[in-house]
Amino acid sequence: MTSKSKIAINRDNNRRRLLLSLRSDNWLLSRLDLIWTKYFSDIPQTNKVFIKFGRNAKFRLGSIRLDKQIKASYITITSMFKDPKIPQEVIDHTIGHELVHYAHGFSSTHPRLHKYPHAGGVVRKEMKERGMEYFFNAYKIWMKEYRKQILANR
Ligand SMILES: [Zn+2]
Repeated sequence: MTSKSKIAINRDNNRRRLLLSLRSDNWLLSRLDLIWTKYFSDIPQTNKVFIKFGRNAKFRLGSIRLDKQIKASYITITSMFKDPKIPQEVIDHTIGHELVHYAHGFSSTHPRLHKYPHAGGVVRKEMKERGMEYFFNAYKIWMKEYRKQILANR
């Protein structure tokens, strides 16, 4: 192998590594898949579910909506979370939160279990029961710092 082709292969490997480490819509989908399999395996996927990064929202970290015509659910995650400095658990927490809504019949084709999506702390309770307390704690720690930052930048 010539040293020139060696350099080319190294460059290729570096690019591959960079692509794998980037937070893309595909990366989000792999997180959703993993979280669904690990924590929501009892919740059948009864319609198409899409996930993607949306605008760079500071306060609305995630959302889920149902397109009633084609019966597809769309999860949107703030683009702020593309920043590798934000712990992965924080993003996993956001995806888990939206999946709880899905499981409770909000923006999904499942029967609705509550009158309001956040009634009486049902989301947190559900996450705890499903063993996702770890995500919630990581989120809480991050949110505390994030709030401080936002207040400092005002
Ligand atoms: Zn919510």
